Amino acid sequence: MARSAKKYVYFFGNGKADGNGKMKDLLGGKGAGLANMTRLKIPVPAGFTITTEACNTYFESKKKYPPGMWEQVLSNLKKVEGAMGMKFGDAKNPLLVSVRSGSKFSMPGMMDTILNLGLNDTTMKGLAEKAGDRFAFDTYRRLITMFGSTVMGINRQVFEKALERMKADRGIHLDTDLTTDDLRELVGTFKGIYQKETGKGFPADPLQQLQLAINAVFSSWFSDRAVTYRRLNNIAHDLGTACNVQAMVFGNMGENSGTGVGFTRDPSTGQKKFFAEYLTNAQGEDVVAGIRTPLHIDELKKQQPSVYKELEGIYRKLETHYKDMLDIEFTVQDGKLYMLQTRVGKRTAAASLKIAIDMVREKLIDKKTAVMRIDPVQLEWLMHPSFDPKASVQVIGKGLPASPGAAVGKVVFLAEDAEAWAARGEKVVLVRTETSPEDIGGMHAAQGILTARGGMTSHAAVVARGMGKCCVAGCHALHVDEETKSLTIGSRVLKEGDFITLNGTTGEVILGEVPLVPADLSGDFHMILKWADEIRELGIRANADTPADARMAIKFGAEGIGLVRTEHMFFEGERVQAVREMILADDTEGRKKALAKILPMQREDFIGIFKVMNGLPVTIRLLDPPLHEFLPKTQEELEEIARDLDVPFQKLQARNKALHEFNPMLGHRGCRLGITYPEIFEMQVQAIMEAACQVVKQKIKAIPEIMIPLIVDVKELSVLREMTVRIAEEVQKAHKVRVRYEVGTMIEIARAALLAHEIAPEADFYSFGTNDLTQTTYGLSRDDAGRFLPYYVEKGIFDHDPFITIDRKGVGMLMKMAIDSSRKIKKGMKMGICGEQVDPLSVEFCYEIGLSYVSGSPFRLPVARLAAAQATLKRKMKKGLSKASV
Ligand code: ADP
Ligand code: MG
Ligand code: MG
Repeated sequence: MARSAKKYVYFFGNGKADGNGKMKDLLGGKGAGLANMTRLKIPVPAGFTITTEACNTYFESKKKYPPGMWEQVLSNLKKVEGAMGMKFGDAKNPLLVSVRSGSKFSMPGMMDTILNLGLNDTTMKGLAEKAGDRFAFDTYRRLITMFGSTVMGINRQVFEKALERMKADRGIHLDTDLTTDDLRELVGTFKGIYQKETGKGFPADPLQQLQLAINAVFSSWFSDRAVTYRRLNNIAHDLGTACNVQAMVFGNMGENSGTGVGFTRDPSTGQKKFFAEYLTNAQGEDVVAGIRTPLHIDELKKQQPSVYKELEGIYRKLETHYKDMLDIEFTVQDGKLYMLQTRVGKRTAAASLKIAIDMVREKLIDKKTAVMRIDPVQLEWLMHPSFDPKASVQVIGKGLPASPGAAVGKVVFLAEDAEAWAARGEKVVLVRTETSPEDIGGMHAAQGILTARGGMTSHAAVVARGMGKCCVAGCHALHVDEETKSLTIGSRVLKEGDFITLNGTTGEVILGEVPLVPADLSGDFHMILKWADEIRELGIRANADTPADARMAIKFGAEGIGLVRTEHMFFEGERVQAVREMILADDTEGRKKALAKILPMQREDFIGIFKVMNGLPVTIRLLDPPLHEFLPKTQEELEEIARDLDVPFQKLQARNKALHEFNPMLGHRGCRLGITYPEIFEMQVQAIMEAACQVVKQKIKAIPEIMIPLIVDVKELSVLREMTVRIAEEVQKAHKVRVRYEVGTMIEIARAALLAHEIAPEADFYSFGTNDLTQTTYGLSRDDAGRFLPYYVEKGIFDHDPFITIDRKGVGMLMKMAIDSSRKIKKGMKMGICGEQVDPLSVEFCYEIGLSYVSGSPFRLPVARLAAAQATLKRKMKKGLSKASV
């Protein structure tokens, strides 16, 4: 008994489709889009999609098709023939097909597509009878080129060179000027090349062509460039690609034909304006590969107004359906429009914001959807600096504004040079005639990309926009000479290593280095964050050490300061001298004398911060770092202090030596200092409380949260808490004002996390010092980890660098234990983090485990605010889902 085989092939055509728009996992983005458009009764050439599952099984079973797949391909091919009224391999009325890759996530230009499949000497005649010899030969030579290069791995250049030779012979410039006889001859030449390069004749059997093409599309999933792209974009390697086999329609059938690509809105600015390019009498590959520079879509409007109108109707229908900006591919065959692809379009960060906000205003989506749509990483790009408008610039060329932003760097001509130069810390701009998928690593390493050829939808443009990288494409005045590593632009010659500046927003190429200014964060940027703030539940604070930092924190949306590192105040100007005196003093008296000099300075700092924060909480950490950080580094410095302190140099030198530690990070620091030299912490508490009292007298609210670092045992905290409260009460009494203050601690050593339930009764709040907690949990020092951590991440031993993204498993487990055990004793106890891990993943984690807030450097807060809002929305969606499924 034959069990019915699994469904590996999904048909679409004649307004019906087996699949639908939601099936991206199985059909890939392209297949799902084609099925969806077909269901929406949009004209799409019939075809079928072989699933990603079939592709994965193909690889698992040593490149054999899963059972039943090929039979399903054949029966679906019959359906396509029926829908199109043509037959594959037929001498009179031949059906040609394209074989197109397409995975769940778009990987522009990374994988293979073969067009015009099904042609051979016999079917060629049928095609010639219907559409003319010229067309048939032109199509045939395209097939041999594409099949030869993509499926058989022949260098495409070999075909291109033969074509160039013929054009030079004939004294013509355009492919379209070739005569029928020329093309016939070219087909012969190409077959010869094919035979010579592969040792086999070009396969005449259309079904064999189809099979080889399907194999090639599957295999392109593991091509080097596809693997690199996935690595750079965090796309899983086990998704596999679907394979779409689709009836060909021809944009190269004459002046009433053509092909185009477009976006339903401007992908650079987000402006609500159809943004498309069109090439008359050409096949799709001509546009995508940037071989001919396409024309504005208005060309189609002029040539074929009714087709343009239909296209307009379709893109609007699609946008309303998908409720997002789309990218589309279409072909006009002899006056009839066909859609070949649609998907959510890649866009710049600025466009992302504008489109999301516009769509809320257009009532297409709600605010929550808008907030979910913005990639927090993209938001970060917007905070990067742009050109100083006051700088005078010398524009030496102009290309297409393919991907906005500013790029300043040294010219390099090869992708591998870009990578090598960037690796040694140079800023480079990659300059190429045009880019291809092999250049992806170099594009990533460069500040920006400049190309001589290609349109807004060329490889360089699409990839750069995806990376958020500045790109100027199609700069015709530019001539690149890879051999001599130089470029000519107009009359100017630049060599490798010369500085160049690109303006991706205007397309200008500028000589030298143009100065940059900070980003404008009003408008759309402000709006989306305002919506995010309305949604998010996680608090956002900043790490800030000075009034200037505090102002930045407020500007970027901080609701308080999560960490003031008091030691940073110690480094400034003459202060460090007083601090050194304090450290090197050999008795309490000496220390107290030095501390008395520091007290007023610290007080002033705190007054400044409290005033800026104006009633928002300020967490102040008492002195934390190892003392050696403050010690004099040179003989001269030591001598100077000896003079100042009026002690013998020898004595001071001995004291300096005695302070030496083998592992200062694990040594005499943090609360250990506070316990052994209480006068240091006492001075700090006094400065904080005096500052608060003074500010309160000026009718400004101050909420100091005094934080004790590096606790490993509750007894340490008890001692220091008692001291803190004693001083705080004294100061308040002396000033005759009350200040709302708290005393809490950091949880940054594993022991403290494990024993948090013992510590909780003594602490008003916790702040997880996730940097030190990571260092001590892993037993590795962040400053030395650079030697092996990148390797670990690359090899997949660690998923992330734990100093960039909080390690959920280990460090996270300690955090969870500490939170849960402490809140059992003190319900709702305030807790946050003050490490630098405020990337979207860490923020989401902090929200999940119930922290009250995260705190990071001011510049990173917008990203954290957005990520926090998204975490809230995700939780709500999950809850909604689980309710719905009950
Ligand atoms: P990519 O994913 O790299 O864009 P596609 O599968 O979309 O690759 O194909 C490349 C080009 O070939 C596109 O411009 C597309 O419009 C064109 N093309 C693909 N299939 C057909 C077809 N059946 N008829 C006409 N043109 C096609
Ligand atoms: Mg495409
Ligand atoms: Mg620490």
